[in-house]
Amino acid sequence: MVNKVALVTGASRGIGRAIALELATKGYDVAVNFSGSEGKAQEVVKEIEALGQQSIAIQANVANEDAVKDMIKAVVDQFGRLDVLVNNAGITRDNLLMRMKVDEFEQVIDTNLKGVFLCMKAVTRQMMKQKSGKIINISSVVGISGNAGQTNYVAAKAGVIGMTKTAAKELAARNINVNAIAPGFITTDMTDQLNDELKAQLLALIPLAKLGEAADIAKAVSFFASDDAGYITGQTLQVDGGMVM
Ligand code: NAD
Repeated sequence: MVNKVALVTGASRGIGRAIALELATKGYDVAVNFSGSEGKAQEVVKEIEALGQQSIAIQANVANEDAVKDMIKAVVDQFGRLDVLVNNAGITRDNLLMRMKVDEFEQVIDTNLKGVFLCMKAVTRQMMKQKSGKIINISSVVGISGNAGQTNYVAAKAGVIGMTKTAAKELAARNINVNAIAPGFITTDMTDQLNDELKAQLLALIPLAKLGEAADIAKAVSFFASDDAGYITGQTLQVDGGMVM
């Protein structure tokens, strides 16, 4: 058991919840960030406690700088340290390029790109003080391949991969590893919105011939967080059943 502290953004459901629970099984105390209803976040807190670890739920919009600073302070006040930051919070506002409203573009960039920037920036000083840390950013394979109808989301997710490499270079000398994970098609509330025809089309593109589970992403996060990944930084690991090669 590792006896370390992790913060997972957007952790009240879906991939974020799976990451929080997987890290708890590995011995991390976990701060569960949420932006919507507190009830679901508190359920995740209870699940983590049932695994024998400590947990708190912290409300914060990752796109708001003051809220992010307060969130990092709350984690350090509660647990005394912060070893692993997982930037998982994300939204979609899909539309074709010519129909996409500026507001739809900005909302996605604010949460999915600026949010990752703000959280990485806010956690850096604490990790430098500790002389160690792991930052894991959840991107997407569409940030590598592009995807019709997702100009905003693809711009953000490609940006996350670029920021991951840059932060990895800046922070390597401080013993802080920064890596990204690019999920393929994972069954969560986010992807439940897609119609059956589109789901079938996507399935046909996946060599392993099945959709991914949130737990598949959580296991990859757990690897990047571990000492086993100590010599890996600046990388983007695709967890996509071979969908994008
Ligand atoms: P989800 O919609 O189920 O969960 C996203 C979580 O982020 C929610 O709990 C939501 O409340 C939270 N969130 C949204 N905006 C926030 C904000 N401003 N501040 C704090 N929290 C906020 O989605 P998911 O499928 O679990 O996705 C998790 C991550 O994985 C996202 O970054 C998503 O882009 C990425 N991803 C998902 C898939 C997939 O197939 N599901 C594929 C590639 C990448």
